[in-house]
Amino acid sequence: MLNKFQKFFYSKILRRKYYRTGHCLGCGRCCKKIYVKHAKGIIQDEKEFENLKYQHRFYTYLKVIDKDETGLVFECMNLDPETHKCKIHKTRSGICRRYPQEELFSMGGALSEDCGYKMEPIIPFSEVFLTIQKKSQPKKKSFFEKLFRK
Ligand code: SF4
Ligand code: SF4
Repeated sequence: MLNKFQKFFYSKILRRKYYRTGHCLGCGRCCKKIYVKHAKGIIQDEKEFENLKYQHRFYTYLKVIDKDETGLVFECMNLDPETHKCKIHKTRSGICRRYPQEELFSMGGALSEDCGYKMEPIIPFSEVFLTIQKKSQPKKKSFFEKLFRK
């Protein structure tokens, strides 16, 4: 649970909506079913993907394993199939170090149910609901307003 200062810092300074809790359990699931998103949306064909390989080394680690209604599905070749560990753990890209981030949700992604991390809303939904409720209630008249209306 975040304290007031942390809530302020994350939401007002960093402009975040979620914060991360938990820890990695090393299951390797997040390195197996990967969608790649770039400016035009989620990658749908391999030609499009080839161009991305020149932009960042992370893309060179990926190979296509499937295609579904969302787009091409990739798997990272650095994942050891036996141990489920990353073979380049110490030198892995920033995107892997920062996983999972809030941007994941803006891409339409989700954490696997068994993932050791959870993304919690900085302002709990109950608080958001209360604020909306308060705003929608008619304002109470001040003492002077009541006085002048009489
Ligand atoms: S899915 Fe979650 S627990 Fe599993 S390797 Fe990825 S970050 Fe770790
Ligand atoms: S580089 Fe390592 S951590 Fe990153 S996706 Fe590949 S296997 Fe996973």
